[in-house]
Amino acid sequence: MSFEWTAVAPQKAGQIDTTPLISIVVPVFNEEAVISSFLERICPILSGETEAWEILFINDGSRDATLDIVREAARSDKRIRALDLSRNFGKEAALSAGLDHATGRSIVVIDVDLQDPPELIPEMLNLWQEGFEVVQARRADRSSDSFFKRGTATVFYRLINALSSNAIPANVGDYRMLDAKVVEALKQYGERERFMKGIFAHVGFRTATIDYERAVRARGRTKFSFVSLAQLSIQGITSFSAFPLKIWTYVGLLVAASGLLYAAFVVARTMITGIEVPGYASLLVFMLFFNGLTLCGMGIQGEYMARIFSEVKGRPLYIVRERLGCVDDSAR
Ligand code: UDP
Ligand code: MG
Repeated sequence: MSFEWTAVAPQKAGQIDTTPLISIVVPVFNEEAVISSFLERICPILSGETEAWEILFINDGSRDATLDIVREAARSDKRIRALDLSRNFGKEAALSAGLDHATGRSIVVIDVDLQDPPELIPEMLNLWQEGFEVVQARRADRSSDSFFKRGTATVFYRLINALSSNAIPANVGDYRMLDAKVVEALKQYGERERFMKGIFAHVGFRTATIDYERAVRARGRTKFSFVSLAQLSIQGITSFSAFPLKIWTYVGLLVAASGLLYAAFVVARTMITGIEVPGYASLLVFMLFFNGLTLCGMGIQGEYMARIFSEVKGRPLYIVRERLGCVDDSAR
């Protein structure tokens, strides 16, 4: 006869399970204009589903009244909590801070500017309860974005998916619901250079997708300039593909081979038609082209070297100055 021991969580009589059903993780950076409308819209939706929710703001070094507004909100409702980071670490780091400190059984990552409609949360919750571990929201319609942003986004998704082995779904932003075990898995990603869209795609799990129309920003301004988006794209590609690094071997071989062919052609022509002096223009063109190519290759190597440098330093991803509300560090 064999005995099987099942692990049972030691729950004392009368002890209430305080784990929230849903944690909402919201990075905020200079968002004083929009936080109260965000709360006004999301709180009734959450309360319509369960009272066991929490909202965790991550103040990413705001220089306006964001922190005061968040502090006030945390004072008025115990379920609203916040982490105040010591400076602006960027959205990706702020998200990591939020995921590290969220305590819910399901965790929703959402932007504060109401571009991600909170009305999707009940549907996400249903799908999660049906057994999906990730419920991601896909922008069916990007007409609220500029023509330029849509164009560059399409190019970016094509490029990264051609180069990287695990597909990053197009038009899926950070807005999603994650099961606690997915968040647990995400914490194992030790990289300093965090491209969350890529990490989300890499982690796997049973995933459902819901389509939505992306609204325009409710108030305030976008925090991402063209330059910062370009940097994020380069970071995304270099974090998830070594192809740009490896291609230079082949480019080099190809160029050397064509050089040899051209040399053979020049020798043959000299034997047939004699020595030819002109050639200044073609020489200059070749020089410019191949110097450009070499510099480009070096630049790409530099990108990867910079990644390695930043990983090797192993600096903290974010630094918490203060916890507002009862954000428990040892929560999970
Ligand atoms: N954000 C942040 N840190 C930053 C930049 C942005 O926490 O350095 C937050 C911002 O407050 C917002 C979300 O990330 O909640 C998305 O930012 P934004 O709406 O400006 O991006 P967009 O929708 O224009 O891509
Ligand atoms: Mg936005």
